[in-house]
Amino acid sequence: YQAGPLNKRVAIYAGALDNENTQRLTLMTDLRRAIDCEELLLLYQPKLKVVSGRVCGAEALIRWIHPEHGLVNPDRFIKLAENAGLITRVTYWVLNAALRESYAWHNSGEAVPIAVNLSSHDLRDPNLLGHIQESLTTWGAQPTWIQFELTESCLMEDLPVAQKVLQQLHDLGFKLFIDDFGTGYSSLSYLRRLPVDYIKIDQSFVTNMESDEDSAVIVRSTIDLAHNLGLEVVAEGVESRSIMDLLAGWGCEEAQGYCISKPIPGNDFQEWKSSFLWSV
Ligand code: C2E
Ligand code: MG
Ligand code: MG
Ligand code: MG
Repeated sequence: YQAGPLNKRVAIYAGALDNENTQRLTLMTDLRRAIDCEELLLLYQPKLKVVSGRVCGAEALIRWIHPEHGLVNPDRFIKLAENAGLITRVTYWVLNAALRESYAWHNSGEAVPIAVNLSSHDLRDPNLLGHIQESLTTWGAQPTWIQFELTESCLMEDLPVAQKVLQQLHDLGFKLFIDDFGTGYSSLSYLRRLPVDYIKIDQSFVTNMESDEDSAVIVRSTIDLAHNLGLEVVAEGVESRSIMDLLAGWGCEEAQGYCISKPIPGNDFQEWKSSFLWSV
């Protein structure tokens, strides 16, 4: 028997898969430990009011400092956490860490709301609402301290459940954002049925706005449609001043992106904020 080129390729492919599976498995085992051992970290990326240049919020973005692999980004472990049934614990950890940070900000001057990303699994967690309320009590926090972001595709997974949970969060007084809007293959019409306040236009459209005419059209018409539905708009992935100026001209309310700031440690946020100057 002689291994032909195809067999060889299959063997290499299977080997690569094995490798990846093993890596995933170890990461998964490691993640259980990470949640308990303070290897997780939140960074905070500021959001800006486009018209005034005022800092109006921060998004909490999770990082995992792995003892061997170093910095692991959420794109590499959130799906893993979902599949391993660990996302609930991750979300609870994030919520508590964000509230601890907010508590510190409230004690050191003017605090901005912190947006926490939820996963579709969280919407099916029967203890989510109770846990959120308990956490607020623990930190003596108000619902205005925290906001929630849910991706468009996560909402589309089970619209009736999303509708129910979002209504409950909304009734408790939390502001709600639809994240990564434009990537979920849904129409804006279903938004009418969700009690959300903001949509965040996915960074893939915003980042390419100047080089790609289609992206520009999508951003501009999404802003118009959102306004017609009574919603406000955040553009994410704003990487240049010229894109900011275009967004301002189109009436986009808020912006987030590297041209304002990369995600930074919570300890540095107040100092960053007080030295930050944006001329409009
Ligand atoms: P997202 O919620 O859409 O967050 C925005 C992502 O875009 C972040 O990536 C942020 O660092 C990045 N970003 C911000 N400004 C720019 C820019 O100007 N240009 C470019 N190219 N990128 C920019 P990050 O932190 O790697 O997070 C990736 C995704 O992981 C997030 O996307 C979110 O869906 C998820 N994620 C992050 N933290 C959490 C968490 O605590 N819980 C859950 N369930 N998901 C999280
Ligand atoms: Mg987000
Ligand atoms: Mg997003
Ligand atoms: Mg995104």
